[in-house]
Amino acid sequence: PALSNATLTRLDPRIAMPRYDRQALTPGIVHIGVGGFHRAHQAMYLDELMNCGQALDWGIVGVGVMTGDRRMQEALAAQDHLYTLVVKHPSGEREPRVIGAMLDYLFAPDDPEAVIERMADPAIRIVSLTVTEGGYNFHPVSGKFDLDNPDVRHDLGYPDTPRTAFGLVVEALVRRRERGLAPFTIMSCDNIQGNGEVARRMFSAFARARDTELGAWLEVEVPFPNAMVDRITPVTQPADIEELMHEFGVEDAWPVVCEPFSQWVLEDRFVSGRPPLEQAGVQVVEDVEPYELMKLRLLNASHQALCYFGTLAGYRYAHEVCRDPLFVDFLLGYMRREGSPTLSPVPGVDLEQYRLTLIERFANPEIKDTLARLCAESSDRIPKWLVPVIREQLASGGEIHRSAGVVASWARYAEGVDEQGEPIAVVDRLKNELMALAAANRAQPTTFIDNRELFGDLAEHERFREAYLAALKSLHERGARATLEALTGEQV
Ligand code: NAD
Repeated sequence: PALSNATLTRLDPRIAMPRYDRQALTPGIVHIGVGGFHRAHQAMYLDELMNCGQALDWGIVGVGVMTGDRRMQEALAAQDHLYTLVVKHPSGEREPRVIGAMLDYLFAPDDPEAVIERMADPAIRIVSLTVTEGGYNFHPVSGKFDLDNPDVRHDLGYPDTPRTAFGLVVEALVRRRERGLAPFTIMSCDNIQGNGEVARRMFSAFARARDTELGAWLEVEVPFPNAMVDRITPVTQPADIEELMHEFGVEDAWPVVCEPFSQWVLEDRFVSGRPPLEQAGVQVVEDVEPYELMKLRLLNASHQALCYFGTLAGYRYAHEVCRDPLFVDFLLGYMRREGSPTLSPVPGVDLEQYRLTLIERFANPEIKDTLARLCAESSDRIPKWLVPVIREQLASGGEIHRSAGVVASWARYAEGVDEQGEPIAVVDRLKNELMALAAANRAQPTTFIDNRELFGDLAEHERFREAYLAALKSLHERGARATLEALTGEQV
């Protein structure tokens, strides 16, 4: 049947269902940016609590700000804001579950006033965000809030009919303040280092541009807890919708699929209360940073360590790479001997277990994560995730040859042809510059790492330069596999 309140009781018994009375839920959270990730992560944690009779006053009201969100509004409205979350196990097993935590969805372009008033309602105590990196409106180079964005300028001129998350949220805070109500907490769940801090800087920059005093008030009175979030949630494919229909008989216009693993580490800074998230497995901590560095330098940096070598060797998916023992050795070697030594203690985490779980997650064939996705925008990734590891290891005298090899694999990749002679489509905001630099790899092998915008003075460190040059030479002369063999044998 088509998913709705009325058909819930008739669903296949293999599908887990809300065990609470949805009629009794009341809203407590407004979430902006209801994409796949929010529905697989935050909404799932709340559903979990609600299943235990908790957080019944923390129902979610979704908000779409972008014109493209109309599809989500229509899909959810037609099924009483229910949807199916399908966990894809590596064995091929599917674990479907209907999530009932979302009560309503407002499409801001149709009625910004309704969104503002909903957020101004004292029942709403948290406004959360998954609006992608672009949603924070910072300039890619300066990192400053971009006041030239035409929508931002519109919102500063017409505060009652805003188009951006900034305009909507800040106007709601203004009205709460005028009415003598406490503010809400702004909780970013985007994959951005120091996401709460970034959100604080961006929202207060917008508020300051509206009114200096308002900006100062917001910075002091509204908390922005940092969070580390993790669960691979690929874009829902038409085949996922069909499979759910065929296997389980559920007609769902927009289900979500994800991996079994899920993690959420969150700072406990809330102004108007929060759900008891720790009871659903959220790690509530003083300081998210050690967890964040663990994720960036092990998970994200490993993605970089596998994607260029993997592409050059002819693979196209992460799981293919992570089922190849040579690559697994290399990744574990990188994580154990280069990434991990740069981490500060991570309370409550067994790092070896974390590393092994990463390999298992990457090897899940059901997720179909493409190397092309992992290779995209390398110039934003390598400098943030891998270069700090190299710098810290250089300073402490630790090993760096695997990381240097990864940088070399990126330089070789940016030449734009794999080892089978097939073209590589480089996707990067600096594509032209990178490819021009890589074209000089053979004649002038340090050209790529001499680029100070990406590497600073790294090429001046002899130990790094030597390791990089050796790996690049090996990639040219012997190819990706032989280079990995040498790097894992530590003979480069
Ligand atoms: P998605 O494309 O399904 O959803 C993105 C949502 O962000 C949409 O609702 C879109 O309208 C909204 N959005 C985009 N730009 C916006 C803007 N300028 N203002 C307001 N809203 C805007 O993507 P997703 O998979 O849900 O991922 C969203 C974010 O979640 C990622 O960017 C990342 O920060 C985080 N995340 C995703 C994953 C994952 O595996 N998908 C894992 C961890 C974290």
